[in-house]
Amino acid sequence: MFDNLSQRLGAVVKNLRGQGRLTESNIQDALREVRVALLEADVALPVVRDFIARVKERALGQDVLSSLTPGQMLIGIVQKELAALMGEQAAPLSFAAQPPVVYLMAGLQGAGKTTSSGKLVRMIRAQGKKKVLLVSCDVYRPAAIEQLKTVAAQAEADFFPSSPDQKPLDIALAALDYARRHFFDVLIVDTAGRLHVDEAMMQEIRELHAALKPVETLFVVDAMQGQDAVNTAKAFGDALPLTGIILTKLDGDARGGAALSVRQITGKPIKFVGVGEKLSGIEVFHPERMASRILGMGDVLSLIEEAQKGVDQAEAIKVAKKLKTGKGFDLDDFKSQIQQMQKMGGLGGLIDKLPGMGQLKAGDLAQGEKQMRRIEGIINSMTPKERQQPEIIKASRKRRIAAGAGVQVQDVNRLLTQFEQMQKMMKTFSKGGMAKMMRGMKG
Ligand code: GDP
Repeated sequence: MFDNLSQRLGAVVKNLRGQGRLTESNIQDALREVRVALLEADVALPVVRDFIARVKERALGQDVLSSLTPGQMLIGIVQKELAALMGEQAAPLSFAAQPPVVYLMAGLQGAGKTTSSGKLVRMIRAQGKKKVLLVSCDVYRPAAIEQLKTVAAQAEADFFPSSPDQKPLDIALAALDYARRHFFDVLIVDTAGRLHVDEAMMQEIRELHAALKPVETLFVVDAMQGQDAVNTAKAFGDALPLTGIILTKLDGDARGGAALSVRQITGKPIKFVGVGEKLSGIEVFHPERMASRILGMGDVLSLIEEAQKGVDQAEAIKVAKKLKTGKGFDLDDFKSQIQQMQKMGGLGGLIDKLPGMGQLKAGDLAQGEKQMRRIEGIINSMTPKERQQPEIIKASRKRRIAAGAGVQVQDVNRLLTQFEQMQKMMKTFSKGGMAKMMRGMKG
């Protein structure tokens, strides 16, 4: 579903560079990519529009952390906003009523209501020792009642029998009465779905809701439904005061796109996600994890945090001052930048965390790391004076340095040329940083 998004964002990371601040013009293309990718992935247009506007508002005028490129910075914002869009941490299941509290399961046929009813037993018990009763009001598919019976047995919960010749409302009220008299804590009511939203189904579940007064009305939706999930969510959200959402089948191909729309359209929290056919396949919903999943990329937020942590602030200020006072950026500064880079896990560690970098060849990476170590070795072989005034490094010094570092004289020459270019570049940018320097080295 969202395969394109991670590819597109990968391109954004590559193209958005060289600017110290996110501006209307430099993020425009990137935002267009995000927009197109979301639309292609079947996210509803109003949801996409709203989302892009928020990201833009957040991004404009932001300074780019010195160790990140503007592209990475923007993706960090996209991920944060995705997480925000899908809501904060959802509230746990409610027991806030006289027991037995009722949980009403709503959703289309095949969404996973019956399976999720069984899975919920586990979640309920995680919140304390509870007596749970399950009942099926699906009188249209005889197999549905049998299915819930099996699920109840697996979940080690009690099952209230019903039959296809009864009316759904009668079944529900009988089950509630039974639950009261036998001191159950929770009654889970599974309902009939249809393949499509239809008025008779909505009317029936509205009646069930009015009679049962559930503390939880949970909308169960299949994550693989894409755009259809939006219409279903809207229909159920309009018909019922939902208290939460269960997003099922996230273990399949679905990359969580439905989560985006469903949460936005209903305004209700996603409480749980279904991650397998077995009753153990249920998890509490985590918005940040889902955001990463949708972006199909490593955890960019942690990259940003590490960048902030890894950069030695005092060192960074010292370098910035040097640049301001016009006193040259020397080879010692260069070395300390490389060391900071390594502190952050080296090139390999960094690239793992970047979206769209998966296709980067392992060979390129090893090459880059080797290069970094070689540069460090060469600088280590220089005297402090040589590091501060590289222009004094003439032929005999070069030979000595090369021998000390175990490299050829032309390696020393190459480093000095690169350093010179970089020095020029550093003066051009008001803010320095490893990312920019690395690009300068390649050029
Ligand atoms: P209902 O018609 O809404 O009651 O849906 P069911 O509970 O019968 O589920 C329909 C199908 O989806 C069944 O084959 C379930 O095993 C499957 N299913 C439900 N939830 C999940 C899930 O989270 N992951 C996977 N892989 N399958 C699920």
